[in-house]
Amino acid sequence: MKLQKITENVYYINDTTNIGVIRVNKENDVLIVDSGSDDSKGRRIIKILKENGFNLKYIINTHIHADHIGGNHYIQKHIPEVKIFSTRAEISMIENPIYMPYFLYSGAYPIKELRNKFLLAKPSKVTNIIDELLSDIIIENNKISLLPLDGHTEFQKGIAFENVLFCGDALISEELLEKHKIPVNVNIKNAKQTLLNLQNMNYDYYIPSHGTLLNNISTLAKENYKRIEEIEEKILNFLNTEKSTEKIISYMLYSYGLNINNATLYYLYNTTIMSFLSYLKEEKKITNIIKNNTVYWKML
Ligand SMILES: [Zn+2]
Repeated sequence: MKLQKITENVYYINDTTNIGVIRVNKENDVLIVDSGSDDSKGRRIIKILKENGFNLKYIINTHIHADHIGGNHYIQKHIPEVKIFSTRAEISMIENPIYMPYFLYSGAYPIKELRNKFLLAKPSKVTNIIDELLSDIIIENNKISLLPLDGHTEFQKGIAFENVLFCGDALISEELLEKHKIPVNVNIKNAKQTLLNLQNMNYDYYIPSHGTLLNNISTLAKENYKRIEEIEEKILNFLNTEKSTEKIISYMLYSYGLNINNATLYYLYNTTIMSFLSYLKEEKKITNIIKNNTVYWKML
C-alpha cells in the first residue's frame, strides 16, 4: 500500500482494493473513496495518510461490498468524528453488513463459509445521507461528482474530482477478466449500460478499484462489454433444450475452464448467472418452467 499522487488534490493508495484520497482544504483534510476490506486495511489507511500529513475526515464508499466498506469500522472507532456518506439505499448494508451473505444465500441465514471477511464487513454508522438524485455533493466547498454506475451492484456510484474518476467495480482489469472469466454483476442490463457510458467519458484518469491507473478506459470497457455478450451467447446456445438452473451454472463454469471449490466464489458466480437468466428472460430470449420440483430454462 502506497500513496500515489494523480493531480493537485487527488491521490490514491494502491492495494487489492484501491483507495481514493481527495484533499478538500488547505489544512490537508481528506475524503477517502472506499476503505478496504477489514480492520487491518483501515489501520493502514490511517497510518499512510498520517505519514503524509493528511487528516482523514470523510469517507464515501463506491458500493456496499465488504472489500470496499470493511475498513469503515476501524476508522470510525479510531476517528469518531469521521463523516461517512451514503445514499439512503445503501445505509442498511453499511450498518448491517450481514445482509450481504444473506443476499448471496437466497435470503436465508448464510452458511458459515459465507460469513467471511470477503463477504461480511464489520458494521459502521452512516453520518451523512446523500440524496440518490444528486449528481454531486459539496464537501468543504468542493464539488465532488457522483456518477451512477449500476450493474455490479444496484446503486454503485463513481466518484469524480479534478478529472479523475474512481469507478468502483464497474469494470475489471484484463488480468482479472482473464482470471475470473465471468465478472460479478447483479443487473446485466444496467451493467451493459454502465459499460457503454464509460466508453464515452472523457476523464483524464480512471481508477478501477481492482486494477491500475488508466488514462483511457474505452478499450477496457469494450472488453468487459464483449465478455458479457459472450456469456449471453453461451447461455443461449446451451438452452436450445431445457436445462435446470444448477446445470446451467455448472456448465458455464466448466465452459470457461473454471473449477470452483469454495463457497464464496460459487455463490458469487451463482448470483451473476442468475442475473443473466433474469436479463435474458426480460429480453424475451428465454423462458422458465417450474416442474418436477425444479426450475428449468429454455430458449424461446
Ligand atoms: Zn464489488
